[in-house]
Amino acid sequence: MSLSGQYDDNNIFAKIIRGEVPAVKVYEDEAVLAFMDVFPQSKGHCLVISKTAKARNLLEIDGQALGAIMVAVQRLAKAVTTALNPDGVVITQFNGAPAGQTVFHLHVHIIPRYEGVALAGHGHGNMADMAELKMLAAQIAAAL
Ligand code: 5GP
Repeated sequence: MSLSGQYDDNNIFAKIIRGEVPAVKVYEDEAVLAFMDVFPQSKGHCLVISKTAKARNLLEIDGQALGAIMVAVQRLAKAVTTALNPDGVVITQFNGAPAGQTVFHLHVHIIPRYEGVALAGHGHGNMADMAELKMLAAQIAAAL
């Protein structure tokens, strides 16, 4: 999918926002939702999305909704750091399929890095163990 096109109301993250598909949530308010990536590239990999903006990518979103996402990203990055003590944190965001985007509802990745631990490939991670994902989410939420 290229940069131009229509927002699809049935993308997987829209379904998560509507509660039609389950997600392991870390934080939620009226503007944003943070939840665990189900195919994590590292321990604690989570995602932040807007609940209000129907934007497929960074180019389409209004500044206010983007601001809410980025404030939440910083909060989550700090909480992940407190909870999991990584050696680094990568923040990524992809626009358009050729750039690596696979879900077309704008989202920002928070990916903790641990010294000497290789990342699973983007889009090639194994599905997480749900019990472990819930435990990690609870640890991160407790550090918010
Ligand atoms: P993108 O490739 O678009 O930057 O990132 C999409 C992310 O969403 C990937 O990291 C992928 O693992 C994650 N993902 C895909 N489907 C689901 C899902 O159903 N639930 C959750 N929690 N994450 C998903």
